[in-house]
Amino acid sequence: MNEQATAPDLRPEEVPTPPRPIDGFEPIVGAERFAELRARAAETVERLGDHTFWNINSTARGGGVAEMLGPLVGYARGLGIDARWLAIQGEPAFFAVTKRIHNLLHGAPGDGGELGGAERAIYEDVLARNLDDLVALIRPGDIVLLHDPPTAGLVGPLRDLGATVVWRSHIGTDEPNELVAHAWAFLRPYVELAHATVFTRQTYVPDFLADAVVRLIPPSLDPFSAKNRHLEASTTRAIALTLGVVADGRTGHAPTFPGEDGSPRRIDRAADIVRSGPAPSPDAPLVVQVSRWDRLKDPIGVMHGFADHAVTRTDAHLALVGPSVAGVADDPEGAEVFNECLDAWQQLPSAARRRVQLVTLPMRDLEENAVMVNALQRHAVVVVQKSLREGFGLTVAEAMWKSRPVIGSATGGITDQILHAETGLLVPPMDLDAYGGALVELLDAPDRSAAMGKAAHERAAREFTGPRHLLQYAALVADLRADG
Ligand code: UDP
Repeated sequence: MNEQATAPDLRPEEVPTPPRPIDGFEPIVGAERFAELRARAAETVERLGDHTFWNINSTARGGGVAEMLGPLVGYARGLGIDARWLAIQGEPAFFAVTKRIHNLLHGAPGDGGELGGAERAIYEDVLARNLDDLVALIRPGDIVLLHDPPTAGLVGPLRDLGATVVWRSHIGTDEPNELVAHAWAFLRPYVELAHATVFTRQTYVPDFLADAVVRLIPPSLDPFSAKNRHLEASTTRAIALTLGVVADGRTGHAPTFPGEDGSPRRIDRAADIVRSGPAPSPDAPLVVQVSRWDRLKDPIGVMHGFADHAVTRTDAHLALVGPSVAGVADDPEGAEVFNECLDAWQQLPSAARRRVQLVTLPMRDLEENAVMVNALQRHAVVVVQKSLREGFGLTVAEAMWKSRPVIGSATGGITDQILHAETGLLVPPMDLDAYGGALVELLDAPDRSAAMGKAAHERAAREFTGPRHLLQYAALVADLRADG
C-alpha cells in the first residue's frame, strides 16, 4: 500500500440489510432443498461463532452485484448468519482504473488507457484510505468476501489482519485474449493472496489460479423483487397497455402493483416507442429481448433474424426493450447503439418494420422500471437473449423464472442456464438463420413452448434463486473453516 498517502481517509459505507424472511423459498425450491438450506445455515452459524461474514464491494446502488447483495445478505441474516455489507468509497480516478480493468477482463479495450505504475498507485492509495475504517470493523477470524476488481487490493491487508479472505470476480470471458491477460497481470499480486476465489464459470478462471482454491458460483435472482415478483396476467396486460407496447383497452384493469413498502403503486408513464403503425393487439404473440443498448447484445441481429424469418412465417411482433437513453450522460454508448438500431429499423422492409418496435423504458424510478421489465418479460411468448458475448445473462434467468422459453446464444453463462430443447433453445451467437429458425420453431408450437417455459421455471427456481447461491456459500465457509 502507498504509505505516502496524504489525502483524507475514505469511509466505507455500511449498507443496511435488514433480515429477510426465508420461508417464502420453501414452495419455490421444494421441502428437501429448503430443509438442507436451514441445516447448512445452522452449521454456518456454528462455524462462524461470533465472527462476521463480510461482503465488500464498491457501490451500494446500481449494477447487478449490488442488486444481488441486498437480498442475499438479507436472507443470510434471516437464517441467523451475521452477514454484513460494506461499500468502499472511491474517487473518479480510481473508478477510471477499475472500469478499465473491468472492460479488459471482458476482453474489451475500454478507454484504451494504461494499467501501469501510476494506475497502481491510484488504486492502492484509495484502498489504503478505506482501510482505517475496515480495520476497526473487521476482526481476526472474520470471513471477508471481496467482490470484483475494485476490492482486490484489500486481500493482503485484510489477510494480515487475520481475516479469511475470498475474492470473487463476477466478470469474465470464455475467450481470454491479451487484454484479459493484461488485466490479470495487474490483479494477480492481490488475487493470489486470497484464501479462495470465486468465479461464475471455469473458463473465467486465470491460469495462475490453477492450483488455488477456486469455487464456481453463478449469480441468482430474487423471486420477491419488483423485477421478478408474480404479476397477474391482467396486471401484466394493463402495464403493457399503459406502456403503449400493445393497444386494445379492454382489460379494464389498472396497472397497479404493490411497492417495496407494501403500499399500492401505479404505472402511469408510457414508454418511448419507435414503431410504424398501430401497436399490436395484446393477443398477438410478442417476442421480447430486454437489454442495455449494447452492441454485444446484438439488437440489430435480433431484428434482422426476426425480419428474415418470423415476419413471413408467423404473425408475431418483436419488441426490443432497453433503458431510456435520453440524457444519460454517463452512457454515451447507449445512445449511440440505440441510434444504430434506429437506422437499422428504418432500413427494414416496411412489412417487417410494422412488426418491430424499439421500446425505451423510463429510468427515473428504478422500482417502476423493474416492474415494467417484469410485465414485458411476462407478456412475451418467447424471450430472446441473442448476445454475442455474455458473462451470465441475468435476463435469461429472469425470463425462465417467469416460465418463458428463452432463445439464447450459446455463449458464456447463457450456456449454463438454458438446457437446449428442454428449457429453451441455444443457437450459435453469429448464426442469424439458426436464431430465426428457432423463433419460428417456438412460435409455431405454443404447446411445446409452454412446456419449455414450465421446465425453465422449475430450473430457474431451483438453480438461479437465493437458496442455491447461499448453499454454495455455506459449503465454501465449511471448506475455509476446515482448512483453517
Ligand atoms: N434491465 C433493466 N431495465 C432495462 C434493461 C435491462 O432493469 O431497461 C436489467 C435486466 O432486467 C437485468 C439487467 O438489467 O436484470 C441486465 O443484466 P444482464 O446480466 O442480462 O446483462 P448486463 O447488462 O449485466 O450485461
